[in-house]
Amino acid sequence: MDYRYLGNSGLKVSEITYGNWLTHGSQVENDVATQCVRAALDAGITTFDTADAYANGAAEKVLGDALKNERRESLEIFTKVYWPVGPKGVNDVGLSRKHIMEGIDNSLSRLQMDYVDLYQAHRYDHETPLEETIQAFADVVRSGKALYIGVSEWDADQLRRGQELARQAGFSIVSNQPQYSALWRVIEEKVVPTSRELGISQIVWSPMAQGVLSGKYEPGKDAPAGSRATDSKGGQDTISRFMNEQTLTAVQKLRPIADGAGLKMSQLAVAWVLQNDNVAAALVGASRPEQVAENVAAAGVKLDADAMKAIDDALAGVIESDASKTVSPEKRPA
Ligand code: NDP
Repeated sequence: MDYRYLGNSGLKVSEITYGNWLTHGSQVENDVATQCVRAALDAGITTFDTADAYANGAAEKVLGDALKNERRESLEIFTKVYWPVGPKGVNDVGLSRKHIMEGIDNSLSRLQMDYVDLYQAHRYDHETPLEETIQAFADVVRSGKALYIGVSEWDADQLRRGQELARQAGFSIVSNQPQYSALWRVIEEKVVPTSRELGISQIVWSPMAQGVLSGKYEPGKDAPAGSRATDSKGGQDTISRFMNEQTLTAVQKLRPIADGAGLKMSQLAVAWVLQNDNVAAALVGASRPEQVAENVAAAGVKLDADAMKAIDDALAGVIESDASKTVSPEKRPA
């Protein structure tokens, strides 16, 4: 495993980070979830990403249970606040001071930990003054409940204003968590250059386009049994944007490029996001421990210019690059 600094901070994270969205507390049984966490630890992954809203709190609980006998200092634990949780009352959502202060305590209790390493705004909250959110984060850091603060899917202007206020409040935003993969490159035009300037890293989600870039979904064929595209508890909906003939056909053209680089397609996909030096970590999910072991082999891989060009050519026509696709809901979700 290779480790990278998170933004302009002294914190190192494993460049392959294990994330438990859609899997823990939902798609997979708890014993499989624990085996995936074990496989991650065995492979040198020290960084784990979750959120209060994943499976409405159950994902944090499952991760906390799986890690409870590990040495806390050897782990970096990331969680998030914004999407509705619990009974989903009017204040169980967003980035108000009330929800942030209650949210961190509830997350720590489910994780069975005294602090998280990174507390992230899961989206931008247009209904709360940014000053209120940043002041609440400053107080969370001062209380020792989170060591660092990050955000997710904030656009370049939001990152700039947020960082300015954070510095006035005595801390820095160290990371942004956007979707990024060879198929979804919307951060490259604005978010990445602004983040470089502000000392913010990307920790990127769905680097494998939710499994699509592994090549296992072939055009015109049924999705493999047990895969996310067959998961009626949520996965099927979220992966649907990539499950079209044109995308699946283009993705199959990556197979010879992966073969040429001596990699599986899954590894090529994860290695691709790590070629961007503003990316501190690829947040990779897994429904089985074997996938974790396979995916970590992408750590430390260098792809040459010919391979990068061949990937662009193979996916031409199905790559999303529109910077305006970095958006947070105008209204808080109910
Ligand atoms: P990926 O793109 O890595 O997709 C992971 C899924 O792909 C797995 O659950 C598995 O699904 C399949 N897969 C994984 N490895 C392989 C393999 N080697 N071969 C074939 N299939 C494989 O990432 P996710 O979409 O899971 O997102 C990763 C993390 O990012 C999340 O857990 C979360 O921490 C974070 N995230 C953050 C968001 C945000 O808004 N900030 C939003 C979404 C995610 P299966 O076996 O079921 O097909």
